[in-house]
Amino acid sequence: MSQYQVHHYINGEIHENIDNRFADIFNPALGTVQGAVALGTEHEVKIAVAAAKQAFPAWANTPALSRARILMSYLQLLQQHTEEFAHLLTKEHGKTLADARGEVARGIEVVEFAIGIPQLLKGEYSEQIARGIDACSMRQPLGVVAGITPFNFPVMVPMWMFPIALACGNTFVLKPSERDPSASLLHAKLLQEAGLPKGVFNVVQGDKIVVDALLDHPDVQAISFVGSTPIAQAIYARGCANGKRVQALGGAKNHMVVMPDADLSMAVDALMGAAYGSAGERCMAISVAVAVGSAADALVDAMAARVKTLKINNGLVEGAEMGPVITHAAKQRIESLISEGVAQGAKLVVDGRNHVVPGCEQGFFTGGSLFDHVTTDMSIYQQEIFGPVLCVVRVPNMAAAAELINQHEYGNGVAVFTADGGTAREFVRMIQVGMVGVNVPLPVPMAFHSFGGWKRSLFGDHHIYGPEGVRFYTRVKAVMQRWPDSMSKGAEFSFPQMK
Ligand code: NAD
Repeated sequence: MSQYQVHHYINGEIHENIDNRFADIFNPALGTVQGAVALGTEHEVKIAVAAAKQAFPAWANTPALSRARILMSYLQLLQQHTEEFAHLLTKEHGKTLADARGEVARGIEVVEFAIGIPQLLKGEYSEQIARGIDACSMRQPLGVVAGITPFNFPVMVPMWMFPIALACGNTFVLKPSERDPSASLLHAKLLQEAGLPKGVFNVVQGDKIVVDALLDHPDVQAISFVGSTPIAQAIYARGCANGKRVQALGGAKNHMVVMPDADLSMAVDALMGAAYGSAGERCMAISVAVAVGSAADALVDAMAARVKTLKINNGLVEGAEMGPVITHAAKQRIESLISEGVAQGAKLVVDGRNHVVPGCEQGFFTGGSLFDHVTTDMSIYQQEIFGPVLCVVRVPNMAAAAELINQHEYGNGVAVFTADGGTAREFVRMIQVGMVGVNVPLPVPMAFHSFGGWKRSLFGDHHIYGPEGVRFYTRVKAVMQRWPDSMSKGAEFSFPQMK
């Protein structure tokens, strides 16, 4: 099979690397190298930021409605190319085609939101704040902004950022994950076809070298990052030290509380999708089931039966429920954490290690694993495994469940399954987590709300996309105006007061 190369996209053109640094792109289902991605340098960052800086004044001056119309054309193209995106995703990331289509759909929703930008940018106005003086506030774009994205949602997570950044009048430089970079160039192609002027959207492929160059570049005004917590924290610190606005979303350990009064089959269905969908490689995946009181035995028995029959296959195969994980190293890390869990005394009810898919013997597959009797001192409880591993922790009551969750370092998503409205209400009020589901396992906010965790799941003040996205990508200007015929009283030398 012939291999392909993925390059940069700068100032409206595909741009090849000046040096010869490349990384392999794997097909995770087959375990084979299928292509190579250019790893950019400071040079590519310089020219991409220069192109974005040059394009900024004209783009910022383009009426918001005209910017929205370009996004409308882009939206139509996205709908026409959904299958192409989904296949690219499955080939490079490994997730099932059905899941890949869902990812594209959730990204498209952000574009639909961003199209409302004329309404979203409307400012505030107060007439006659003093005699003859009116005041207003308006939101203006920041300039060149950059996005750095993870491997697990190569289509959707960049779309949490650039549609809103562009709609607000900024120009953008994207640094996608080097593991599955092809979708970034399809975005670039479709944006160009939709009529986006050159230089407004740019892609620099690469790794830490490119990220550091973006963080240090004086012309980059803001950084949006989504990825693991240690990197998010480092990016937040360096970006802020350089005077930039930063939102850095990190990792997670999402719990789902199952109360004794919960509908068991509903909870089991929810857990199956939330723990094993996308091989657990979702920042909102449920990785801990907190079984309260008498819920535990029935829950573990029902889950064990289901996990053993998971349909694990190449994501391109119809009916596959779970594909491979992203790399051989990820498989090894996940499986060695499972071994650690066993050594630390957790009960491994279903062992997914060494899973082989016929016809995909070299693929990066690990089966679904289920642990029971997990305790908070174990590494499988403390760390984000980011694989198809569910830990069941048993607690006596809701208060103990909430305390456990509130003490965890992460606070991205959480869910409670119960038939009692009072229990649910109390849980929602006291839980220290950014996104909460009540009988909903993956409480990912729609595009017209905003997404973000608490604690070490997010560094910065703004959640991503939705109204918070508009705030992040704009700054407020307050204007006070008085016109000549109201200045008849002459100069005022004392601090003005309302009369
Ligand atoms: P990662 O942190 O390894 O990489 C994310 C991005 O940072 C990539 O573009 C990568 O090239 C770059 N990067 C990696 N190491 C770097 C370094 N030392 N310095 C600078 N840049 C570096 O994350 P990943 O493995 O691609 O993605 C999985 C992680 O992302 C998980 O922890 C998951 O929870 C998290 N995630 C969080 C959210 C959220 O919304 N909170 C969403 C998706 C994924």
